[in-house]
Amino acid sequence: MDYIGRQAKLQKALEKNRLDGLLVTHLPNVRYLCGFTGSAAALLVTGDRSLLFTDGRYTEQARAEVQGARVFISRKSSLVAVSLWLTNNGRKHGLKTIGIEAEHLSVAERIRLSRTLKSGFRLRPAPPLVEQARMVKDGEEIELLRAAVNLGASLFDIALQTIRPGVKETEVAAAMEFAARRTGAEGMSFETIIASGPRSALPHGRASQAVIPADGFVVCDFGVILAGYCSDMTRTVYVGHPTKEARQIYEAVREAQRAAVDAIRAGVRLARVDVVARKVLQKKGLAKHFTHSTGHGVGLEIHEAPRVAAGTMELLQPGMVITVEPGVYMPHVGGVRIEDMVVVTEGGCEVLTPTGKELITI
Ligand code: ZN
Ligand code: ZN
Repeated sequence: MDYIGRQAKLQKALEKNRLDGLLVTHLPNVRYLCGFTGSAAALLVTGDRSLLFTDGRYTEQARAEVQGARVFISRKSSLVAVSLWLTNNGRKHGLKTIGIEAEHLSVAERIRLSRTLKSGFRLRPAPPLVEQARMVKDGEEIELLRAAVNLGASLFDIALQTIRPGVKETEVAAAMEFAARRTGAEGMSFETIIASGPRSALPHGRASQAVIPADGFVVCDFGVILAGYCSDMTRTVYVGHPTKEARQIYEAVREAQRAAVDAIRAGVRLARVDVVARKVLQKKGLAKHFTHSTGHGVGLEIHEAPRVAAGTMELLQPGMVITVEPGVYMPHVGGVRIEDMVVVTEGGCEVLTPTGKELITI
């Protein structure tokens, strides 16, 4: 990974934002910038250097992983360590205005920082500079995401083998998660969603004790973490014999998903992708049952910038990796969602998820 290049890019952004440094405390951002994967760290990036503060548990790991930053091991918390360093050395390095990650720093941490930091420094909430950089993936990241997507997709076969009337949703999730670990996943990228029968109308119906009924949709939304990168996909199957109406709902969602994928190309507004999916469902009178946005960025985190939603005026850029996941949810009846991960290219997009989308009945 080009950690040095990422830090250099951030340094340019600091200058533009009139910040002498950025205190990075959000761990996925720390990992993105210097490679450190530990659970406690603060990274200070200034105009001419990067410093990583962590504790004794991570001495070996930090030395092995961190690139482009000097490592400081402290007995104190990373945040206290960084403010002590600033207090002792900040002035001679010309540091005065330090950006903080307002979205990620707790109020208590903010207070602790001000208490240990000598006067003369200014802490300023910074724009999400690292998140903005992370939106566009480089070639190496896209390959890691592809590997995560493929491992994740292999779990759908396990779901198909396990989903039967009378089986608990948690049993299906367990079989998938066991297979994920056995095939090398570091973990699931979020709690596996297996939502059957009327529960399929819950867009985020985590696998529960509910027993899969003899008739109805089962929404399966799942992903794995591999080499730090997340996968995310949804397929909806039907247990029993789908009615004509159930088939129509499924096909409407499939059409909306396809139309949204077809609308993706560099230079198009993210909001446009959402509108395209919504319009297809509107024509079928189903738009009011599509109650969430069309997708999200995915990478080191399962949900990251950009949002594929109404009102997102940002333009699609080559290298963005986003999900496309329209759904229709009829309360007390059932729901359908279909979700792929795609990478944006100059002239369109490449669908990373290899799994077919025809309605599977069990
Ligand atoms: Zn999902
Ligand atoms: Zn998703």
